Amino acid sequence: MSLTPVDIENLPLALQKLGISDLPQSIQNRIQLVDACLPQTQCGLCEHPDGCLPYAHAIVVHGEPHNKCVPGGQPVTDAIAQLLGREKLPATSSKWSIDPVTHRPQEVRAIIREDDCIGCTKCIPACPVDAIVGTGKHMHTIFTDLCTGCELCLPPCPVDCIDLVPIDRQLSEEQRIAEQHHLKERYHTHLNRVAEQMADATLDKPVVSVVQAELGSVIHNKVEVSEDDAKLAIESAKLRTKIKKLEKQLAVRDNPKKRTELHTLQRQLETLADN
Ligand code: SF4
Ligand code: SF4
Ligand code: SF4
Repeated sequence: MSLTPVDIENLPLALQKLGISDLPQSIQNRIQLVDACLPQTQCGLCEHPDGCLPYAHAIVVHGEPHNKCVPGGQPVTDAIAQLLGREKLPATSSKWSIDPVTHRPQEVRAIIREDDCIGCTKCIPACPVDAIVGTGKHMHTIFTDLCTGCELCLPPCPVDCIDLVPIDRQLSEEQRIAEQHHLKERYHTHLNRVAEQMADATLDKPVVSVVQAELGSVIHNKVEVSEDDAKLAIESAKLRTKIKKLEKQLAVRDNPKKRTELHTLQRQLETLADN
């Protein structure tokens, strides 16, 4: 299977600002080839919050270092160096350990702790591949098959109920290329949808996932909640998160101050539950 280059002519509005189609054809070709090496996780860890194509553009047009793709690790850094005839550089380090077989950082997937989710919808627009489904006040869930582990849904979550779990898998080159192509298409769909919603002044609904629109409601627990109940749920979820963190810390090393804090939080949670 050959690399599938990005369709420069039909880029979403958000990527057209790069002006790639105005560049000489040879430069466009290089950008496409570099982009095809990148994982298409669209995580922004290369310091390009708009994703992989802007980084490919910066490498080729602005001479940016070719070792900044964190999830791609050393294999992607080396592939770009070879493609562009650049020197070998050590890849930017990841907080995840390096897989001894793929030589890339450990892959992870996001999972929502559904009992703690308060259905605030804040994670949905953060996902570049529309892997999260749910609507306001309903529990949310993540399609693990679509999730890339980019971690972008974690910061917006007010109750810290999204966990990252390592996954082990070996992809053939063909599978990786196919997956990257698929992720790129999903990202472009996401960008087009966001642009449409921003342009639609009549739209007062929260940004929702394309997957959700396609599949209808796939949420398991549809429970409408009042504002008071929602506040209570937020408070409880925050307490549970703090309690879990403390329990984990105390499991590693006992600390009388933290144990007292834990007991206080547990009592607060019990009081909330009695309300
Ligand atoms: S996958 Fe790599 S190139 Fe793409 S946005 Fe993330 S760090 Fe940047
Ligand atoms: S669910 Fe979260 S970690 Fe997974 S792709 Fe979407 S934003 Fe990234
Ligand atoms: S941001 Fe967190 S609490 Fe809000 S819907 Fe997403 S997972 Fe649930």
